[in-house]
Amino acid sequence: MRADILIVGQGLAGTLLAWEFERAGIPFAVVDGGHSTASSRVAAGIINPITGRRLVKSWRVDQLLPVARAAFRELEAALGVPLWQEMRVRRLFADDRERRVLADKNARGEFGSFVGAVDHDGFWIEGAARVDLPALLTTARERWRAQGRLRAVECDAGASIGSHELVIDCTGVSGARGGKFSFVPWEYSKGEVLTLAVNGLAPDVIVNGGHWVLPIGPGVAWVGATHQPGVRDVGPTADGRAVLEQSARMLLPGRNVTVTGQMAGVRVNLPDKRPVVGRHPTNVRLGVFNGLGAKGALLAPALARQWVNHLTEGMPFDVEVGVERFWARSSAQASSH
Ligand SMILES: Cc1cc2nc3c(=O)[nH]c(=O)nc-3n(C[C@H](O)[C@H](O)[C@H](O)COP(=O)(O)OP(=O)(O)OC[C@H]3O[C@@H](n4cnc5c(N)ncnc54)[C@H](O)[C@@H]3O)c2cc1C
Repeated sequence: MRADILIVGQGLAGTLLAWEFERAGIPFAVVDGGHSTASSRVAAGIINPITGRRLVKSWRVDQLLPVARAAFRELEAALGVPLWQEMRVRRLFADDRERRVLADKNARGEFGSFVGAVDHDGFWIEGAARVDLPALLTTARERWRAQGRLRAVECDAGASIGSHELVIDCTGVSGARGGKFSFVPWEYSKGEVLTLAVNGLAPDVIVNGGHWVLPIGPGVAWVGATHQPGVRDVGPTADGRAVLEQSARMLLPGRNVTVTGQMAGVRVNLPDKRPVVGRHPTNVRLGVFNGLGAKGALLAPALARQWVNHLTEGMPFDVEVGVERFWARSSAQASSH
């Protein structure tokens, strides 16, 4: 099918973009080589409103969470597979410092209803969720292949502009290097996860203490994820396995845990920890949607809607996520040399 807009890459970013275009009646085509490097294939799809050692409320979670919930619920109805599960997080305190941080921030009302009961060992995070990203990628791919809109090929986004009005690069780690968007200061962090056979876990509880354990289905869970900043290969390692196996045993004391699989992928970040969307500043027929970091499930639906609003109503991209923020800096640096 000939379409004026070509989406290159059908990971989480490309899938949400294509879905929002389909909803809005915007003609599009998608190409994806086959997910072999897709971090969306190995991502747990966890949306956790409070993360990190410093217990930080996720950026704009109050606005982004309802958008994500609505988008994934619509997708599961359209694709006919369950994708969205409401979860709670049992967050374990690492030390007294974390106890104090929670008490201070809670007393200031920073977390609102995201923090539930608190006890000596940890606290409950409410309003979390899990999106089944592998199921989303597979079923969306089948839908667009059947519609004749998706081709299983690789292509160079920059070189495809000639035959399309607009080409949007959603290629994750593959696109985050040279090429037309080389002025963007891409950063990477490799992550590994293990698949576990383990019985008796509550299906809606993520245990989080350093690493997390996520129940996936009866007798199956994932433990993850490691962070190796600056590393961009997708090969599983013995070190990754050892560290995650130890965490699984620590987080699930007294349970019989067997490792059944191991996967790795690469997160793409920007230094300001915000994603990046928009048109190339000098070649406006080339767009980008990348840098989802460790929060793609929360961010991707709202960012895809920004693309739709831009194309249908001419709305500018939010300056906090727009690609221009890096162009301005790189142009200033170039002119000072
Ligand atoms: C171990 C791990 C755990 C994670 N856990 C979570 C989590 O719990 N929650 C969360 O929100 N996020 C998580 N993430 C992050 C999440 O994976 C990313 O935010 C998101 O999936 C990135 O999606 P993407 O579409 O930008 O990139 P990708 O998923 O990498 O997709 C890019 C796609 O582009 C295709 N492609 C590349 N080059 C070409 C080309 N030249 N031509 C055609 N197609 C091409 C690839 O085949 C791929 O399908 C995790 C990441 C890792 C590594």
